[in-house]
Amino acid sequence: MKAGDMIVTSSIPELRQWRWQQPAASYGFVPTMGYLHEGHLSLARRARAENEFVVVSIYVNPTQFAPTEDLSSYPRDLERDLALLRGEGVDLVFAPDDALMYPPGFQTYVTVEQATQGLEGASRPMHFRGVTTVVAKLFNLVQPTRAYFGQKDYQQSVVVRQMVADLNFNLEVVVCPTVREADGLAMSSRNKYLTPPQRQAATVLSRTLRHGLVLLDEGERNGRTLRAAMQGMIEAEPLARLDYISVAHPITLQELEQVGDQAVLSTAVFIGKTRLIDNMLWQVREA
Ligand code: AMP
Repeated sequence: MKAGDMIVTSSIPELRQWRWQQPAASYGFVPTMGYLHEGHLSLARRARAENEFVVVSIYVNPTQFAPTEDLSSYPRDLERDLALLRGEGVDLVFAPDDALMYPPGFQTYVTVEQATQGLEGASRPMHFRGVTTVVAKLFNLVQPTRAYFGQKDYQQSVVVRQMVADLNFNLEVVVCPTVREADGLAMSSRNKYLTPPQRQAATVLSRTLRHGLVLLDEGERNGRTLRAAMQGMIEAEPLARLDYISVAHPITLQELEQVGDQAVLSTAVFIGKTRLIDNMLWQVREA
């Protein structure tokens, strides 16, 4: 694929016509909100390696933001994003606007019930309803063979998998590892908001989760003890304010009193006004 051949469209008929010119080909799809970084690009690369065609969407979806959140200030740079995606050999970028996605009279939403109750769902009550609604719409528009999501948003990947199973979407959900900065900070478009001292303080998320993994490796299995130890580390960082810390089952997302063979450690932390999330998976090692 020559760089420069990438189609950029905000037209549903154009997207559909392109998609159905080769109905039997495989299509990899990466939904994003733009302001792309290496995390997003790793998903595009994986999609490129596994499919004949690759579609990336760029859309800052208003229904997944609460009125108090950062919708209006969310960083955007479409020209830079398109250049990065051209470099990855992406075939088509779908960049719709709000009038196209939510025309007047729009009134249908997709809700995943249990998997959205805790963690991000508890802190951001309408968030996942917005995510699943827009992802369902994008799946219907693109009709991908495989859709690529980052482990960075671990609960989102669980919720999307549940929706795909429950609503019989004919596609495979692929979850890719979290891409991090050299000092461990998970890449995020929101990292742009951080001042230099805040940027340094933000390493507290990954340091804390890694400490949790070490405690688990050392044999600690009590959920409350693990959460307290991690909470203490976050509270020791003056620029950080804890939203939640969790030791949960990776499939059900239920908080664990006692860890068995596996767990997902996750946290949400405010650094100033910026809310950052991160998570790490733990699995018991074979003796
Ligand atoms: P966003 O643009 O934040 O909605 O993210 C779009 C997709 O990129 C989601 O599936 C995210 O989980 C994924 N993503 C975001 N940050 C990272 C990262 N640091 N590593 C891997 N995937 C990521």
